[in-house]
Amino acid sequence: MDVKQIGKKSTAYVYDEIESYLTSVFLIEKKSKIYLIDTFCGSESMKPIINEINKISHDKEVIVINTHFHWDHVWGNCSFKGNNIISYELCRKLLDEFWEDQINKNSKYIFGKAEKQLPNITFKEKIVFEDDGIELFHSPGHTADCISVFDYDERILYVGDNLEKPIVYVESDDIDTYISTLESYLSYNPKKIVASHTLEITKEDLLNTIKYLKSLQANEQIEFQTEYERKIHKENLRILNKIYI
Ligand SMILES: [Zn+2]
Repeated sequence: MDVKQIGKKSTAYVYDEIESYLTSVFLIEKKSKIYLIDTFCGSESMKPIINEINKISHDKEVIVINTHFHWDHVWGNCSFKGNNIISYELCRKLLDEFWEDQINKNSKYIFGKAEKQLPNITFKEKIVFEDDGIELFHSPGHTADCISVFDYDERILYVGDNLEKPIVYVESDDIDTYISTLESYLSYNPKKIVASHTLEITKEDLLNTIKYLKSLQANEQIEFQTEYERKIHKENLRILNKIYI
């Protein structure tokens, strides 16, 4: 695991245990609370995070945030049984429905325990921690239950899986909503955009993703550099029922 400072009080913990992509969780230390964005793949992977939290403070409440219901973002939830875990309301429902299914399909990536631990706080549109300048807001795109986090002090926007390089992975067929979400990111005027699988996202990357989604929707011919991109693009087309394989 790699540790990268991404803001004055914000750190990315980057895991490389899953092939094809890196996956990060983020720890943000604020005046009143500590926020953990996502919990990766089980209790073992959360041990270094818990050590770090104990080093920072024994008094501050730790708020755990699940960006969406996918297994590589939530299996460490069971390490935070005594904490508040927050997600979009649909995320909790999907986790409840698909926890076992996701475990069965990806069990080789469980590190330690991955007992079912659902978010205990959910919201619909947004939730703001005013004292800390932290906003969580619904940002459907990659999946319908995605949320993003904006840190008003550092102007860092955490987008979960809604942005990713070299190509985004589309699981919801509502592309118009996905594009609206990406456009809404611009109104936050972020200094920095970080995604779960790509730490550095530029404004140009965001605009290129909007362009890609429009081409995907129109089923236009797109040239890719790598086999990986061609594979994901094909899966995205399948989600939109553009191809049947
Ligand atoms: Zn995902």
